[in-house]
Amino acid sequence: MPRGITPRQPARTGRQEGTSVEKSPRTEKNASVTRNARVGKSANAGMGTLARPRGAAPAAAPRTQKKSTAYNPLAPERISEILKRLDQLYPAVTCALTHSSAWELLVATILSAQSTDANVNRVTPELFRKYPTVEAFAALTPEQLQPDVRSTGFFRNKSKSVVGAAKKIVADFAGQVPDDMEKLLTLPGVARKTANVILGSWFHKAVGVVVDTHVHRISRRLELTTQDDPPKIELDLMKVIPREKWILFSHQIIWHGRSLCIARKPKCVDCPLENLCHAADKTWSTVEMHKNAKA
Ligand code: SF4
Repeated sequence: MPRGITPRQPARTGRQEGTSVEKSPRTEKNASVTRNARVGKSANAGMGTLARPRGAAPAAAPRTQKKSTAYNPLAPERISEILKRLDQLYPAVTCALTHSSAWELLVATILSAQSTDANVNRVTPELFRKYPTVEAFAALTPEQLQPDVRSTGFFRNKSKSVVGAAKKIVADFAGQVPDDMEKLLTLPGVARKTANVILGSWFHKAVGVVVDTHVHRISRRLELTTQDDPPKIELDLMKVIPREKWILFSHQIIWHGRSLCIARKPKCVDCPLENLCHAADKTWSTVEMHKNAKA
């Protein structure tokens, strides 16, 4: 070896002049990487999580999670505050349709479509006195029933549904209203809303959430859903409302829809949910509307 030329040795510090590592902040890890590279060790040998193939992109540095400050109408704290206020406002509400059996509730619910509960309650006492059992309804023709339910509106369709349901219950379910969603859905005139009313209010089974006109409107006003189709609204509500609240929540919202959050002119000034509500058709507001607000 010519005099004056000394072979280069790995620096004890692990630093090496002219490398990019030298320019980066000094850490024990990059010192170790550099040291190994300088002494000719395999890039993967004994380096644990530092090991990566030559040319591969370095692992991304762990990100610190920023807490989002964006408004989220489905935030658990907001949902639980809505439920808490509904509990304070309507602590023990139940179904407003007069009934004393699952069959009577089924008839009343079918008759309540496009009508008011008060209107149905005016008709049903005499109806159940005249036809006291499901078998008595099953013996009728729809035409025979029509005069008795005429004042509830859509009486031809409703008569057909009530008589059809009675015949099916007598023929297939031994005269007993089934306590099962799938079986209930086989009855004429029974869709998920009616089935949920029977299961929740009579059998105390939380299988779904009743979505009637009030639940439909108010769930959108409170931004619990953006859907307009009752089965989809029900699915959205089932995701955000705890199951043990499904039955009571429907009753509470139905009562809220009758007393304060009415369709045309909601009484927002008297509503205890007001400062949580961003509905576009509010009649009075203490909160700023955001661009996604729905009516
Ligand atoms: S503030 Fe008005 S729109 Fe909102 S829930 Fe109450 S009554 Fe309905």
